[in-house]
Amino acid sequence: MTEALSPGGLAARAADAGPRARPRVLFVSHTGTMSGAELVLRDAVRPWAGSTAFLFEDGALADTLRGAGLAIRLARRGTGLSGLRRDASILTALPKLRRLAGLALEIARAARACDVVYANSQKAFLLAAIPARLVGRPVIWHLHDILDGAHFGRAQRTVQAQLANLCAARVVVPSRAAAEAFVNAGGRTSRVTVVPNGLDLDRDPRSPTALRAELGLPDGPLIGVFSRLSPWKGQDVVIEALAKIPNVRCIVVGTALFGEDAYAAELRARVSALGLSERVLFLGQRSDVPRLMQAVDAVVHPSVDPEPFGRTLVEAMLAGVPVIATDAGASAEILDGGAAGILVPPRRSDILAAAVAEVLAKPDAVAARTELARVRALTRYSAAGMQQALATLILDIAAGA
Ligand code: UDP
Repeated sequence: MTEALSPGGLAARAADAGPRARPRVLFVSHTGTMSGAELVLRDAVRPWAGSTAFLFEDGALADTLRGAGLAIRLARRGTGLSGLRRDASILTALPKLRRLAGLALEIARAARACDVVYANSQKAFLLAAIPARLVGRPVIWHLHDILDGAHFGRAQRTVQAQLANLCAARVVVPSRAAAEAFVNAGGRTSRVTVVPNGLDLDRDPRSPTALRAELGLPDGPLIGVFSRLSPWKGQDVVIEALAKIPNVRCIVVGTALFGEDAYAAELRARVSALGLSERVLFLGQRSDVPRLMQAVDAVVHPSVDPEPFGRTLVEAMLAGVPVIATDAGASAEILDGGAAGILVPPRRSDILAAAVAEVLAKPDAVAARTELARVRALTRYSAAGMQQALATLILDIAAGA
């Protein structure tokens, strides 16, 4: 296991690094909304109080990073750019070119005052890469997406991979699946480092029954799906599966964070059409996901396209409940090829329904897998381990390694 990295530990390592000591890092993010990538950033910056975050827009992320002791620089021309769809054609961005150029200039100015630029998203990297290189600063790209055909068009994949080859000192990805996708898109293998996302969660000591009572959740067989509402997250497949397993209820936790409200409305309509309104409870966006997970009998992770990581998977493993996940992207490596959970093919509501019914009928049969999952999450996916790996990488890049 890696040694926990305190800000003091980082300072000591930085002091050993010589007179330039602790580098000044410019963390760049395009969105103000907290989804998985921003939660990772929140945990990654913990040792970097005093550094700066350059954000395209204000919002929850700015508040969180301010709270972590970072200085916040808000872009003057950034608001609304997060609304550009990541799978949109380059033509969609054309009308915004003047603003994008202005934003790139702002990033160049901010980068000049720092030693390393750390782009926490695809859009942040696309905009920061060239300005940072022009002012002579190395760029680390934390790529939280999986650069494959399910999520991006060919031209986009090629542009991103080639820009990374040209401009990124390092590309950090959270899984081997994401690393492979980057390389398949044309990215250089030598540029990529896998740093799994890490989480730091406290277990609620109360029993599932006590938690359900407090949270107002029903008795009886109950599963949960925990993700923002988005077509590729596959909540619709769970709803179809529920129609085949009559006594089971499901909580659907999360909201449409990135303009996918039509999908959220479709989900509700489908629940009504299938007569499942009593059994599917939409809880919206919640800040108590770990507790909700401890209260259900199983967590389903139904993504229909490959997952770059899936923090939700690790949260479920830490909650000590059985995990049923689609075998797409990183799920298999996180769940140890199925030894630490149940893997099902994506988009197959029939197989998913059978797997849920089996787990709920025979929880003892999966108890060993669930315990293996908990220990695996604690040892492999800790926030301290992630901070340590990222800090080492930042220090090495700042030192010109
Ligand atoms: N999440 C949350 N509240 C919700 C739904 C989700 O806090 O109502 C959190 C969830 O616990 C996880 C993160 O959002 O930590 C989603 O990360 P993940 O990597 O699973 O998916 P992403 O949204 O990044 O694709």
